[in-house]
Amino acid sequence: MKFIALTIFPEMFQSFWEYGIVKRAIESNSITAEAVNIRDFAQGRHQITDDRPFGGGNGMVMKPEPLAAAIRHAVAVAPGARTVYLSPQGRRLDQTIATELSMLPGLILICGRYEGIDERICQTCVEDEISIGDYVLTGGELPAMVLMETVIRLIPGVLGGEESAQKDSFANNLLEHAHYTRPAVFEQEAVPDVLLSGHHAAIERWRLESSLIRTVLKRKDLLLQRRLAPDEIKVLQQWRLDIEHILQSQSVCGAGALPGGQ
Ligand code: SAM
Repeated sequence: MKFIALTIFPEMFQSFWEYGIVKRAIESNSITAEAVNIRDFAQGRHQITDDRPFGGGNGMVMKPEPLAAAIRHAVAVAPGARTVYLSPQGRRLDQTIATELSMLPGLILICGRYEGIDERICQTCVEDEISIGDYVLTGGELPAMVLMETVIRLIPGVLGGEESAQKDSFANNLLEHAHYTRPAVFEQEAVPDVLLSGHHAAIERWRLESSLIRTVLKRKDLLLQRRLAPDEIKVLQQWRLDIEHILQSQSVCGAGALPGGQ
């Protein structure tokens, strides 16, 4: 997959390409990645890429001509790639969108600055607008890196085992289970025995329960979107029985009326 970031600060990407999974993906030819300087496509001695907004007001706007020329260059280098404008007004990035994007031959990522880019570029060249969250940053470079990293993790082969991305949080509307490493006891806190037992079926069962409990406590909304597997339903039913049992024991003990008369 080809990634081309269009930016006025290409140096910001240098260290991003040089570490961890992104570096490995480049070295194994799973991806190619480059940052193209929009300024190289600007005319005149000063190669200006921004100008004052029509109608007045604060801030500057990225001029359309250099951007259009940079996009045309990127489209020629990466045919079939989707042209994406990183923008707080775009559809909000999540694992489903990342999965959709990971299936494309490439991404051309327009990094805005100042008040953003001239609207005519959005209308004529931009195929998708993506936001990394409901907050405003100064530029599109960090959002482009966030988008790239999450997409790169999903490209088959990049993580070493296909398994890992599928088990990550959100892959199936479940948060991932808890993780522990050595030492087995840290400041009097021990790792759950089952994880040291070597009993694979019991470990899988513990991980499923850990995953479910974390999702119930932290992100109930995800479970409502998930088609639960029969073994997951069994776990939830068992919890329901346990919780009902606890509540019944409270009313039997006469520990006071439960809220709502239950
Ligand atoms: N004036 C714009 C608005 O209110 O919608 C915000 C412009 S912002 C200061 C400058 C650039 O940062 C944007 O063009 C965009 O490329 C990038 N940016 C800022 N926040 C972002 C976000 N949450 N997601 C993606 N890109 C963002």
